[in-house]
Amino acid sequence: MARSTPAYSLKERYGHAMILSGVGDALGYKNGSWEFCHNGESIYKELKELGGLEKISVKLPKWMVSDDTVMHIATGEALIESSTQDDRQKLFLSLAKAYKKCMNDMAGRAPGLTCMNSTHQLRPLVPDGYQIPFNPRGGGCGAAMRAMCIGLRYPMPEQLNDLIAVSIESGRMTHHNPVGFLGSLASALFTAYAVQEKPARSWGQGLMDCLPLALEYIESTSRFVKENKETWDYFGTQWKKYLELRCLVNGEQDPVFPQPYGFKERDEFVKSVSYKGWGGSSGHDAPMIAYDAYLGAAGDWKELCYRSMFHAGDSDSTGVIAACWFGVTYGISSVPPKNHQRVEYRDRLEKIGHHLYDIAFPERITGSCKDTHKKRVWCYWLLEKSGATGYGSNPCGSVRSFWSNKPHEHMPWFARPMRRKRFEALYHTFLHAAGANAEEQEKIEPFLCKLTQAFQVAFYPGKKLCIKEMIIGFNKVMEIKSIQCLKALHAPFQDIWSM
Ligand SMILES: [Mg+2]
Repeated sequence: MARSTPAYSLKERYGHAMILSGVGDALGYKNGSWEFCHNGESIYKELKELGGLEKISVKLPKWMVSDDTVMHIATGEALIESSTQDDRQKLFLSLAKAYKKCMNDMAGRAPGLTCMNSTHQLRPLVPDGYQIPFNPRGGGCGAAMRAMCIGLRYPMPEQLNDLIAVSIESGRMTHHNPVGFLGSLASALFTAYAVQEKPARSWGQGLMDCLPLALEYIESTSRFVKENKETWDYFGTQWKKYLELRCLVNGEQDPVFPQPYGFKERDEFVKSVSYKGWGGSSGHDAPMIAYDAYLGAAGDWKELCYRSMFHAGDSDSTGVIAACWFGVTYGISSVPPKNHQRVEYRDRLEKIGHHLYDIAFPERITGSCKDTHKKRVWCYWLLEKSGATGYGSNPCGSVRSFWSNKPHEHMPWFARPMRRKRFEALYHTFLHAAGANAEEQEKIEPFLCKLTQAFQVAFYPGKKLCIKEMIIGFNKVMEIKSIQCLKALHAPFQDIWSM
C-alpha cells in the first residue's frame, strides 16, 4: 500500500501516536453516546449536524477521553517507570500499581466491569501481586485498548520476546483469558510493525506467526496453562477467518474490500466478527476492526475515523487503537487541528510518547556517531545508486571501514562505484548526516525511514527470501565480508541474509 514519506521524525510520531490515540478514543466515545450507539449511519448523521469531522473540537467537557486512554496512559507511565531495568517482575508490579491507581480517574469514562473487578484483585506491594486467576469470561477488549504503547517501548524485531511477555502479562492482569490478552499482544505488535514500517498487509500474517510463541510464553510461566490451552484456539480461528475474508492470509497482497463499503456494510462487518454481536468489545475483534480501518483508510484521517470510530460496535476501543497506529505511521499533519489541539491529557500523552522513544532508542538521544544502522543505510543507498549491489547486512564500525584496507575488512570492489572521499563529501555536507547531535539526526530521519523501509523489503526474511548463506563466527571473527566480496558483482540483494 502506497504511503508518502512521513513529514515528522519518528520521535515526533511517537508523540502523535499517543495524542491521536486519545483523540480516537474521545471521538469514538462522545461521552458514551457514540460508544453505545449501535448504528454507524446514525452517528454519521449526527456528525454532519455537528458540521463534520473537521469542525469538532475534541476537548472537555463534551469530548472527554474514556477508560481506554486512562488505562493506556497507565501502561505508558509504568513502562517509563520500570522497563529500563532488566527486572520484569518489577515492571509487572509497576503496571499493576498503575492500573489499580488509574481506577480513581474513571468518573464518567465508562470503565469495563472486568477491568474494575480485576484491578481490585491486584496487589502491587506483594511479589506476585500482579497475577490473577484465569477468567473464563475475561475475553473483553480492556487489555487490547491500552497496549499500543508496549509496541512503542519494544519496537524492533529483536525485542519480540519482550513485547510478547509484557503485552501478555499486562493484558492478563485484568483479562486472564487468551481472547483478552492476545488482543493486548495484537495491539502492541501492530504498533511495533508500524514503527518498523512493515507493510500493513503483512501484519495479520505476522500476528498468526506470533501465536505459537505466545503459547510458549504461557507454558513457560506455568500459570493456568491448562485453562489457557483449552481456550487458546478461538482468537487464532477468528483472525484466520478475517485474513481469508480480506485475502491477507499470505501477507503479500493488498486487502480486498467489498464494493460498495459504506456505513451499512461496515456495520455488518463489525457485527459479523464479534463474539456476541457488539463488534470491537472483545480482545480478538477490537484490534481486528482497528486493523481493517487502518488498511482501508490508507492514510486518510477522515476515512480512518469513519471506519474505526463511527460504527455500530465498541467504537472508542477500536478508535483508540487505529488512531495510535495512524499517528506512528503518518504523524499528525493531516488531522484537523481542532480534532487534537485540546484533547484531554494531550501534554501527558505526548510526553509519554517522547519518553518511550528515548527508552526504545537510547543511542539516538545521545547523538552517538556509532549509529551503524544509519551509516549502513546511507552506504547501501549510495552504492546501489552507483550500480554496486550485492553487499550484505553486516554492520560496519564506521563509514570508513567500508573502504578499509585491513585484511579482515578489505573489499576490493567497494571503491569502484564511489571513492571514499566523494561519499564522505556527500555524507557530511549535502546529506547533513554527520552531526553528533540529535537535532541533525532528526533532520534526516524522515528520509532515513523511507530508505530503511525500502531496504527492509530486500533484507527482511520472508517467504520470498532464501537463506543462501549462513555465516558462523569462527575464533570470534565474522568473516562474512571476505566471503561476500567474492560475489559482490553478481549476487542480488535478495539472495543474501546474514546471521
Ligand atoms: Mg472506553
